[in-house]
Amino acid sequence: MPDYNTVNVPAPALEDMIRGIFLAIGCAGEEAGDIASHLVGSNLAGHDSHGVVRVPRYVDWHKAGYLHAGRKPEVVTDGGAFLLLDAQFGFGHAVTKQGVAMGIARAKQHGAAVVALRNSGHCGRIGTYAEQALAEDLISIHFVNVAGSFLVAPYGGVDRRFSTAPIAIGVPLEGRPVVLDFATSLVAEGKVLVASNGGKPLPPDALIEPDGRFSGDPHTLYGDYPQVGARIPGNGPGAIRAFGDHKGSGLALMCELLAGAFTGGGTSGPRDQRGCIANGLLSIYLSPAHFGTEAEFQRMGREYLEWVTGSRPIDPASPVMLPGEPEKRSREKRLREGLPLPADIWEDLRRTATSLGVAVPAV
Ligand code: NAD
Repeated sequence: MPDYNTVNVPAPALEDMIRGIFLAIGCAGEEAGDIASHLVGSNLAGHDSHGVVRVPRYVDWHKAGYLHAGRKPEVVTDGGAFLLLDAQFGFGHAVTKQGVAMGIARAKQHGAAVVALRNSGHCGRIGTYAEQALAEDLISIHFVNVAGSFLVAPYGGVDRRFSTAPIAIGVPLEGRPVVLDFATSLVAEGKVLVASNGGKPLPPDALIEPDGRFSGDPHTLYGDYPQVGARIPGNGPGAIRAFGDHKGSGLALMCELLAGAFTGGGTSGPRDQRGCIANGLLSIYLSPAHFGTEAEFQRMGREYLEWVTGSRPIDPASPVMLPGEPEKRSREKRLREGLPLPADIWEDLRRTATSLGVAVPAV
């Protein structure tokens, strides 16, 4: 169990409450359901940084007119096997899910598809979209950036230049699907958010101060903040560090160029007049069935996974895991035992729900 104050909330009750919040601010049933199931799904997968902790922020952005209910991805360019979509600042979890569904349909038709999607509201845990493609037996690769957000210092620098620019790749091997999904920053911003709310502390070298010293203190990113309430990433003096030195920093740069500049949604940088952050995604979908290598791919891929996980573990109690396995384990455990939410995050959610007249489950 975590060593900070938590409340334990069953996932179905939490999902109902979150759905109620988005219905109350004007989302239609399916949209509110998509947002709630994505957010609770992120918590179940163990990525609390992209789960319900974000709800008060989304509600504020909607109120401020940065995010809009009921939007659909608009087709800007239709090239058959490639699409440019504009998500029109709709709620990201819903509009990106729709954009991914369009990419899946095109890949099933052509064998491969490329979808550039811009101006999505914050779309959460990118692995969710790789899982959506896996459910249709497709490989998918997603380069993502966050226009209007700049949080991460490039390798060798202290000033912020990148968003946390995540990458996700899903590979549909039968019985053992692999999902790699991570931010190119040393930690996702949501992990700083969770730490600032009394959740899991940050590694001591996750952030960088303006003088180049490493830090694990969320104040480096947010400056001063109340115990319960909003954190403003622009307020702190420092930055998050890119992971993997020059390699992670280079990947972040490519995400900004592909998902930000190429889609036309915008690269990382100070917020423009819209005042809101927006995700851009460049997604590639591949159908092994169409390529004609399906049987070999399954055989070689599964054999290779066996060999990789058969590597002698450093600690005999911790065998080598594949990307996606920690999330699967977390999902099984949290569905069984409930979601442990830091008490301050629960209080923030409770206040948001109550202010909108939404029932709060007893915990
Ligand atoms: P992370 O550092 O926890 O890395 C997660 C990845 O590493 C997963 O693929 C996981 O399966 C794998 N992994 C973890 N431990 C492993 C082990 N022991 N063996 C093998 N594989 C292992 O992730 P993160 O960088 O903190 O990102 C968290 C989430 O934040 C991601 O879901 C990402 O998509 C999301 N994110 C979203 C945005 C956005 O703008 N929407 C921005 C940044 C990050």
